[in-house]
Amino acid sequence: MYKSLVIKVGTNVLTRPDGRLDITNISHLVDQIAALKQAGISLVLVSSGAVGAGRELLQVREGTEEVARRQVQSAVGQVRLMEIYRQLFHNHGLLCAQVLATKGDFRDDLHADNMLNCFRALLLDEVVPVVNENDVVAVSELMFTDNDELAGLVARMLKVDALVILSSVDGLYDGPPENPASRLIVDVAASDQSVLGFVQQKKTSFGRGGMATKLRIAAKTATAGIPVLLGNGRTPDILNKLTEGNWPGTTVS
Ligand code: GLU
Repeated sequence: MYKSLVIKVGTNVLTRPDGRLDITNISHLVDQIAALKQAGISLVLVSSGAVGAGRELLQVREGTEEVARRQVQSAVGQVRLMEIYRQLFHNHGLLCAQVLATKGDFRDDLHADNMLNCFRALLLDEVVPVVNENDVVAVSELMFTDNDELAGLVARMLKVDALVILSSVDGLYDGPPENPASRLIVDVAASDQSVLGFVQQKKTSFGRGGMATKLRIAAKTATAGIPVLLGNGRTPDILNKLTEGNWPGTTVS
């Protein structure tokens, strides 16, 4: 059984198709995370959704350039996102904390040490760290490819037992996920380049770019000795499967 986890939740799991925050699903995920904590598992949540939450709150002024628009939406949205998490964790008697990072924080040893010390102290105090990219200052070379990369770096920094990446698909398929003939690949070896090649090749035709990045990060994380579990964040009670030992998605190890 896993004793420590990083759980990454993507924007599509946290928002509805119209882009508004899906409070019902966020609430269900927090319920499951609280249950894992009650089972004695130490965990860190990596959550996207700030830009989405900001888009819902504020119509950014016409003519604002793209980088500034994203900064504004994230700056406004991160507050809302954290307020929602604060309230939902509070309902379980838990405290959560905001940790914002840029790629530069992992490159700079002092910043990385400071972050690690903070994570350790938060976890010792049973606080749930909620990590996101610091979109306000992360521009160009300071940006992560996406939060999958951030989650992989946090998992390796904390040397957790597993990284869980929840998105809106069940895992890696041997064809387009929407095609009923496609089958879910349950286990992938980190060294299996054929699988990586397969996904990248399919990326342009089926627009599954998200899975290509996930697999790249998963292979790197698994090579460092941390298995990566890909799964659907909309599957009811999916996180309970972690303690039952029957993961319904794809495991990269
Ligand atoms: N930091 C972005 C947000 O909170 C998400 C980045 C990503 O989805 O990978 O909206």
